[in-house]
Amino acid sequence: QNKQIVEKSFLIRFFDDVPSFVSIQGNFFSKMEEDHKVRGGKLATNFMEKGAIIGSKRAFRIEKMVGGGGFGQIYRAIDLESRIVVAVKVEPKSTESGRIVLELNILLLLQHCVNIPKIFYSGEVNRMNYIVMQLLGKNLGDLRKYQRHRTLSNITTARVGIQCLQCLKEVHNLGYIHRDIKPSNICAGIGEHKRILYIVDFGMARKIRNDDGTFRPERTYASFRGTTRYVSITAHERKEQGFVDDIWSLFFSLCELSEGLSWKNLTDQDEIYLAKKIMLNRFQSRKLSRSFEAFPILLEKTERTEMPDYPKLIEILKTSCPNFEECSEFEWDAE
Ligand code: ADP
Repeated sequence: QNKQIVEKSFLIRFFDDVPSFVSIQGNFFSKMEEDHKVRGGKLATNFMEKGAIIGSKRAFRIEKMVGGGGFGQIYRAIDLESRIVVAVKVEPKSTESGRIVLELNILLLLQHCVNIPKIFYSGEVNRMNYIVMQLLGKNLGDLRKYQRHRTLSNITTARVGIQCLQCLKEVHNLGYIHRDIKPSNICAGIGEHKRILYIVDFGMARKIRNDDGTFRPERTYASFRGTTRYVSITAHERKEQGFVDDIWSLFFSLCELSEGLSWKNLTDQDEIYLAKKIMLNRFQSRKLSRSFEAFPILLEKTERTEMPDYPKLIEILKTSCPNFEECSEFEWDAE
């Protein structure tokens, strides 16, 4: 299975699928993209119908929608040649020009990273762009909500943090920042990959460091990017984000996974900003041991253009749960 996935990732093509080559079975799209913009930008209906077949050089049959973000929709589909189950992310071309193209390019650069879904194929049809990639399991936002106390164990939280740090280090090494790290953008793998966590949704990523090592000029005002509940203080203040801001979002995500956030019912940006300031003023973890308190302290010392100290942060997470085990089960393993 694993070998097949690696081999298949060489079959990548860019957005060059020509609609006339696409074999259409049944009513391919239930509605055109204009319909989806009606309700305040929220996606109201399915872009694709069950049974639709997409792809020219390869054929994928759409099965079922498994996720819907702010812009796109994710479907479970079957590669009709290999019978491998895959995921298809679809986005109307008009959504925000280039979003999914940027995402594809970053995902391709990150294919060496274990915590990034493998890409198999990409195409364009009926003014929609799509990416065919490794099918993943549930996201951590949903997995947390299914738990009895709506929280995850310390060991799970630490392992989520460690895997995300390893992945973000690779993202940052390429000069990119993700800008929307949150539990719903972290998915568990399935089958033999069930103990691997994957970071998804690079649609909001930004390259901050050029290939020659220089940084893009710092803007005096950077418009808001991210999800209010998880963004860093820097993002709240509309300042230019750096590598460390992804880790701040990871920090707030880990706090939510392990013990919840005091601002979970707030919606006002200023109130959330204030709640974060209060929390960070004297951060004390209620569940993880006191050594976790060193995590935000280390982030506070990290400059925008500096690479965070990933090994040290990983060490902090390991020591924050006394009986840390790398290979223990996750809560959702048995499901
Ligand atoms: P958007 O860019 O529209 O916000 P995302 O890429 O964030 O879309 O995906 C939305 C949801 O779909 C995620 O929260 C996740 O639960 C699910 N998802 C994303 N990628 C996959 C995948 N490869 N396999 C299975 N589910 C996925």
